[in-house]
Amino acid sequence: MWTQHYDLHSHSTNSDGEHSVEFVAQLMKNSEVKYWSLTDHDTIAGWKNAYQSANDLGINFIPGVEITCERGLEPDELELKQRGRERASKSWHLLAYFPELKPDDEQAIRFAQWLKPLQDNRIPRMKQMVEKLAELGMPIDFSEVADKAGGSIGRPHLAQAMVDKGYVETKFEAFEKWIGDGLPAHVAQPKPSIAEAVSVVRECGGVTSLAHPLYYGIPPKQLGQYCKSVGIDSIEAFHRSHEDMYRFELWQICTQQGLKVSCGSDFHGQTYGQSPGKMATPVGQLCV
Ligand SMILES: [Zn+2]
Ligand SMILES: [Zn+2]
Repeated sequence: MWTQHYDLHSHSTNSDGEHSVEFVAQLMKNSEVKYWSLTDHDTIAGWKNAYQSANDLGINFIPGVEITCERGLEPDELELKQRGRERASKSWHLLAYFPELKPDDEQAIRFAQWLKPLQDNRIPRMKQMVEKLAELGMPIDFSEVADKAGGSIGRPHLAQAMVDKGYVETKFEAFEKWIGDGLPAHVAQPKPSIAEAVSVVRECGGVTSLAHPLYYGIPPKQLGQYCKSVGIDSIEAFHRSHEDMYRFELWQICTQQGLKVSCGSDFHGQTYGQSPGKMATPVGQLCV
C-alpha cells in the first residue's frame, strides 16, 4: 500500500523558502497533503503559524526542523560518480520531527534554545560571504541580501542578490561557481555533529530522518549501517531529487536495518519550478 498524503519536508520565509507559512500550507492542501511538516533550517519560528494554518485548512501539522550538521561520513568518490554528482555537500542535513509537541511546551522551548546559536551565526557568516564576494570583484550591500530574507538569512538570498546585480545568470550558477560548499566565496558555518543533534532531538521527544542522502556520496548499505549505529530513526528515501531506483534501494536498506523512511518535496518556492506533495511513499514504514 502506498500513500501520497504526506509531505514531511518544506521551507518558508522563516528560513530560505520563498513563501509565507500560510501560503505553503495552502499549496500543501491544494496538493491533497494531509500530513504536512514545515522543516525550516535551524529554526522552529514557523511552528505557531503552521499549526494555525493547518488547523484552518483541516490538515495535520507535524512540527519539524532541518538541522545543519557536520558530515557523518566522508564521501565515496565512486558513489558520487555513479550518481552523477560532482561533489558531496560539506554538511549533512538532519530532519527532526516532534509529532507530540506544541510550540509552548517546555521541550520545544529547550530545543529552540539549543538551535539559537546555530541561528545567530547566520548573519556574521553572511557578512563574511559578502566580503569575500567584494574581494572577488562582486560588491553587494549586506542590506540587499538581508532585505530578501523574511526570517533566517541563507545562501539562496545571497544567490538572488547576485542575480539581481548581474554577476550570475541564475541562482544555480551562483552556487556552482561561487557560494557552494568549498568554493571561493563560501564561508562554513559552525555545526553540531550528527550524534549531538540526534541526542538533543531525542531528549526533546523527537525522531530524526537523514535528509536527501543523494548529496552525501555514501553507498546506501554503508549509509543504512551508519544511521542505525548513530541512532538516526529513518532515512528520507523518498526525496524529490531521488530517482525511483535510488528510492527503492534506500527503502530496501531501511527495511533490512530496521529503519523507518520519510518523504519530502523539500519545497522552497514556486520560482524554483517546485510544487509540494505528490510524494508516493509506502504506508506503515513512515517515521511519524
Ligand atoms: Zn537540506
Ligand atoms: Zn530542505
